Amino acid sequence: VVVPPHLNEFQRIARFFAPLAAPGALGLLDDVALIDGPPGMQYVLKTDAIVEGVHFRPDDPPAQVGQKLLRVNLSDLAAKGAAPVGYLLMTALPPSRDEAWLAEFAAGLAADQATFGIGLLGGDSVATPGATTLSVAAIGRVAAGRAVLRRGARPGDLIYVSGTLGDAALGLKAAAGGLAGIDAAARAFLIDRYRLPQPRLALGAALVGTARAMMDISDGLVADLGHICEVSGVGATIEAALLPLSHAAKASLAGEPALLGSVLGGGDDYELLFTAPAAAAALAELGERIGVAVTAIGRIEAGQGVRVLDPEGRPVAVPVAGYQHF
Ligand SMILES: [Mg+2]
Repeated sequence: VVVPPHLNEFQRIARFFAPLAAPGALGLLDDVALIDGPPGMQYVLKTDAIVEGVHFRPDDPPAQVGQKLLRVNLSDLAAKGAAPVGYLLMTALPPSRDEAWLAEFAAGLAADQATFGIGLLGGDSVATPGATTLSVAAIGRVAAGRAVLRRGARPGDLIYVSGTLGDAALGLKAAAGGLAGIDAAARAFLIDRYRLPQPRLALGAALVGTARAMMDISDGLVADLGHICEVSGVGATIEAALLPLSHAAKASLAGEPALLGSVLGGGDDYELLFTAPAAAAALAELGERIGVAVTAIGRIEAGQGVRVLDPEGRPVAVPVAGYQHF
């Protein structure tokens, strides 16, 4: 089959893979699949791949490459309110990835297995003449019928995010030698946020029964909120002034205000994005208890699409509408 070059990632999925989807696949429109487990429980299945030159830089520390690979998958489990059970690992390595690289890569995985209480269940190891390609399939579990899906957002819900936004996209710029105006500590913080996402498992689990729609931010805030809106049949308005920013991100934007585009459109944050009936104080308190900031940034409305407003109520242009693989 010749794929016309204009089909983007989502159009490719819709045309070629959605017709293959099983009942638990949620139409391939959510972060995960759900299959029945023992009575009262569902398994949550997720796979995500990372490719050298696309998702990580060739000289990134191997331990952190392994951790990022695992964590981007755990982040999707977190976004459904699920607890991780284990994972399968596929590695496709060029000859340049020697035993020393693999030893560090495996050490990163071992550290995270201890952190998250999981183990490796199986996988495959192959050679490639191309770029290093790594894939994990993560398995989680959730009480039956309790997983928080993307499709539950309703007009009147507030829109919330965990943590701070834009750090990873700015960290990628810093790792590539950009952001000359910020100090070394800010630079190190942003690069760490790019290389080492923090799956919000405790927060995600605590939001079961409260969040109406949830996903993790991997393609960028505006693009991912657009996914929630599309499958929920609603629109959204975000207020740029409410976006939670780290000190390092604020320092970056102070020197270069156009970097707001990286906060709105940049990917790799792996923070939780969710909607819930208005309860901003209670949710901020929940976040405080768990140790992750929870911030209301806007509102779900009837209609469609995502609007971003500046403090004067004028629309803000979003230069990058999510990461486009194709
Ligand atoms: Mg996701």
